[in-house]
Amino acid sequence: MNVIESILSKDELTRQDITLLLQANDEDRAKLFAKSAEVKEKYVGRKVYLRGLIELSNICSKNCFYCGIRSGNQDFTRYNLSDDEVVEAARYSWQNGYASIAIQSGEVSNSAFTQRITNLLKKINAATSSELGITLSMGEQTEETYREWFDNGAIRYLLRIESSSRELYAKLHPNNKAHDFGKRVECLRLLQRVGYQTGSGIMVGLPFQTIENLADDLLWLKEMDVDMVGLGPYVEHPDTPLYKYKDMLLPLDERFALALRVIAILRIIMKDINIVAPTALQAIDKLGREKAIKIGSNVVMPNVTPGLYRNEYKLYNNKPSTAEADEDCKKCLEARIRLTGDEIGYNEHGNPIHFTQRNKRIL
Ligand code: SAM
Ligand code: SF4
Repeated sequence: MNVIESILSKDELTRQDITLLLQANDEDRAKLFAKSAEVKEKYVGRKVYLRGLIELSNICSKNCFYCGIRSGNQDFTRYNLSDDEVVEAARYSWQNGYASIAIQSGEVSNSAFTQRITNLLKKINAATSSELGITLSMGEQTEETYREWFDNGAIRYLLRIESSSRELYAKLHPNNKAHDFGKRVECLRLLQRVGYQTGSGIMVGLPFQTIENLADDLLWLKEMDVDMVGLGPYVEHPDTPLYKYKDMLLPLDERFALALRVIAILRIIMKDINIVAPTALQAIDKLGREKAIKIGSNVVMPNVTPGLYRNEYKLYNNKPSTAEADEDCKKCLEARIRLTGDEIGYNEHGNPIHFTQRNKRIL
């Protein structure tokens, strides 16, 4: 047995084990992927669940240094979908058996926004017989707001930590109260307390990020006991402050390969969570999401935002836009997922098994 094989045979992985797995050579990488595929099949099965992604608005009050829709970027048009457009996208998802939607937007925290989302949740539920599993991803909010949305039908919430290293976090965000690492962690705790299926995640291949940072991120996600993870490669955007560090980044194909390893290790250390096959992988490799499904991911978020707006939700370079997103049409998606050997869990919520287990532990 070589070093990697003996690591893969352990029940618990240490920081050093994870660091070695992240750097394994090609032959060992194949063993890592075989192991993570085996864990996926055993603990969550070979089913992929769909969440129709609705990019509600690119209006954001924050100024994260990596993000194309940050408030400081004035080089593009801001939009806000109408309620009717959102309800229509939700109905499309429901009628096509997607069973879940994920509504994502820039961060806005005021009573008018809270109220709008509450009303939207009511309208979506009325239009879809309350059958959709609704995920929200709208950044940091107060406990009251999280509770109000939960009470009105949202069951999942995604809030990436981006990096679990306070130091690195500080390099990625302005130094002020609106971008506070501690507050983001606290929000994740609030979400768990309110009762959401709670998701977090990171970006892989950030400037200044080390392999040890990634190992710590993986252990942090486990420690936080999250139910879902969305993680993907960092892809630079020219109109952001972080772009000036582009020359220190790994080439895109290496960031892609590293993100796949992170997903595989995550599947091994958090066996029964839901892991998203991220769109940012598809931005680098057309078959990126399928590759992630093969080695551990079990959730795909086909974009159902009206085509007119997709080009304005540019978080990073090469984000699949209107034309490419046609590949998310139902038939294309089916063909692509069939390629992986998995089946689509149509009309199933596909709630994370981890969530049920976590609640059993609390009771
Ligand atoms: N505003 C909410 C928030 O930040 O939690 C939700 C929407 S935000 C656009 C969703 C995610 O996009 C972020 O958590 C971040 O990880 C990702 N993102 C932003 N800029 C990115 C970039 N340049 N490369 C890869 N992912 C990026
Ligand atoms: Fe706004 Fe989210 Fe982008 Fe930060 S990552 S600028 S909070 S949309």
